[in-house]
Amino acid sequence: MKILVINSGSSSIKYKLFDMPQEQNKVAGVIEHIGEKGSKIQDHYMGLRIVLGKLKHVDAVGHRVVHGAEKFKKPILINAPVIRKIRQCSCLAPLHNPANLAGILACKKLLPGIRQIAVFDTAFHQTLPAHAYIYGLPYEYYKRFGVRKYGFHGTSHQYVAHEAARRLNKQISKLKIITCHLGNGCSIAAVEGGRSIDTSMGFTPLEGLIMGTRCGDIDPALVTYIMQKKKFNIFQVENTLNKSSGLKGISGISNDMRILEGKRKKRDDRARLAIDIFIYRIKKYIGAYTTIMAGCDALVFTGGIGENQKRIRKEIYKGAFSHLKKKPKILVIPANEELMIARQAYNLIRSPQLSTVQISSKSACNCGD
Ligand code: ADP
Repeated sequence: MKILVINSGSSSIKYKLFDMPQEQNKVAGVIEHIGEKGSKIQDHYMGLRIVLGKLKHVDAVGHRVVHGAEKFKKPILINAPVIRKIRQCSCLAPLHNPANLAGILACKKLLPGIRQIAVFDTAFHQTLPAHAYIYGLPYEYYKRFGVRKYGFHGTSHQYVAHEAARRLNKQISKLKIITCHLGNGCSIAAVEGGRSIDTSMGFTPLEGLIMGTRCGDIDPALVTYIMQKKKFNIFQVENTLNKSSGLKGISGISNDMRILEGKRKKRDDRARLAIDIFIYRIKKYIGAYTTIMAGCDALVFTGGIGENQKRIRKEIYKGAFSHLKKKPKILVIPANEELMIARQAYNLIRSPQLSTVQISSKSACNCGD
């Protein structure tokens, strides 16, 4: 069965075609500059037409969808009600869900009758217990506005946790795994018995670790303080926290860890400080997750930094488990969210319950949209 995996962004479509169940991938690519000034590709429909022109045959399409709120705990076959709910979740991911939907709608037009499956970035973290996902805010904000920790990079954490269990030749149900996705965006998850029980990203991908340009955890009182000092409006402060902070903001040099490593070697103090903070924050989360799981069998690294920067990895785990009698295995596993999406789409199509899949009746996000 040929499953096309689509990651549709605001101006790009990344695609990969998998032969399932062999999990072979021979065709992959990206269409860029969609809808940009001067581009010949005006919209996602045109972009996808180019993609499909390169492929002989497609049996089903798996779509990456960033936000499924509490509505979607698993992958789901896309139909009209599902599209409506994904649209409702857009208020929680205004930059991502509309772009994901543009890809879905283009596929529906271009591939009528072909089954399409949505796989959500948030779904893997829907197993978090309430004590991990409720913030210390008035509880009614959760009920009325969907204010809670959702977590992101779920498909990546799920993939590397399963791959770790496979490589260790152990059942995932018996393992305590900490997964570190360290790319431009960075997040870490505690995966106990195959279920995510905590993760560092939150209501948005801004919470948690220091990232390329995102600040991660800060004192919330800083937001209004910075607004006063810099005379910023909400958009300016949000922009600063998302785009001018993290490694880039601290170093004043770059968000690219390779460049910072190079500068650190040349004894640049700010590059060294940015890397030190990056590592320190990850270590703190590893300590917390080792405690909540009462141990750790495997520490997994993935993402551009996690996969390629050996020295950073070593500095992260050096001494981190000195208090444990049984030390975890350290694994480096290349990210492959696309394969996880293809697997989930394939499993759903073959599932006997396919025709009876229900959407949770719980609120999408209740943010008033
Ligand atoms: P994204 O989150 O955008 O997918 P990546 O997973 O590609 O990002 O990670 C980008 C980060 O990985 C950058 O900080 C980059 O410096 C770092 N990195 C280190 N080595 C490599 C490498 N060989 N290839 C790609 N990125 C690398």
